[in-house]
Amino acid sequence: MTDAKNIIIQISPKVFEEINAFSSKTFLTRGGRIGSGMGMLLEALWGYFINIELKEYPYEIAWFPDHQYNDFACLHKEQEWKPESKEGEALRIEVKSMNKGADESKAHFDVLSKEIGDDDLLLVIVWEWRQIDSIYFAPIIIDHFINSVQPLIKLRDSLHLKRGGSFVDAQKCPDGCTPKTCSHFGEPLNAAGKRERLTGPLSCKPSANVSYAANFGGLIRMLKTSNPEAFEEFRKIRKEDEIAHKYISFIHTNYIEEELNQYPKSKLDSVAIKNGLDIKGKSKAEIHKLIRESIPEYQDQLRNL
Ligand SMILES: [Zn+2]
Repeated sequence: MTDAKNIIIQISPKVFEEINAFSSKTFLTRGGRIGSGMGMLLEALWGYFINIELKEYPYEIAWFPDHQYNDFACLHKEQEWKPESKEGEALRIEVKSMNKGADESKAHFDVLSKEIGDDDLLLVIVWEWRQIDSIYFAPIIIDHFINSVQPLIKLRDSLHLKRGGSFVDAQKCPDGCTPKTCSHFGEPLNAAGKRERLTGPLSCKPSANVSYAANFGGLIRMLKTSNPEAFEEFRKIRKEDEIAHKYISFIHTNYIEEELNQYPKSKLDSVAIKNGLDIKGKSKAEIHKLIRESIPEYQDQLRNL
């Protein structure tokens, strides 16, 4: 099981190099635009390009034929595949893409723990339109995250609770289901008690016209902490869990403002002082910039504060 996971994680950088080489020859356009659907095209390309790299391994990637939570499955070669029973599968992979220039991806990481296996992976692609020559632009992948999904579900769900949200308890379903028949078990509700997914309890619809809130699991938003208690929880999980730390570092590297907003000035100050940096008269943003530029492993230091 873990064999497939390690192989996929290891070959991913090469796969993205190849997609970028292909993209900069093929997807040339005059002026790229946001909201072009290009992210979905890049997600799909991953499924094809990784199979080229998997040639020498006993695994291959398959695209789900119907509405599954995951986008791809990693299969054992030459075995029959039955998606309903997961026969023939090593693991599943959920793929999301984000445009660097956009505020937040439309894609939501809103799969529930009960819907996903322990070995399943999350792949997040960050891309941007890059100028290739004096006239043409092409979509280029600038960074990616790929790792186990369950630690990220734990991180997301813990912070959801700290934000005042909750999860449906089958014993007390707002729709009044009997515990045995309740399909809403574990569905996220926001602080106002409204459902975050279409599959949540019907009686928790935000309004007559809005069927669900859809804030849960925003790839950037899920890390935000609006009160000290939530920030402490965030720090605790980052410290304890290597994969959560990697995801946080990935988001903060690509969306620098998020890191600046997340950490109080006092924490940035202590990292700077510990490394002998002069912060006298400097603003929080200036200290943040100084840390980023002078301490290569500053994110590890933030983790261990
Ligand atoms: Zn129910």
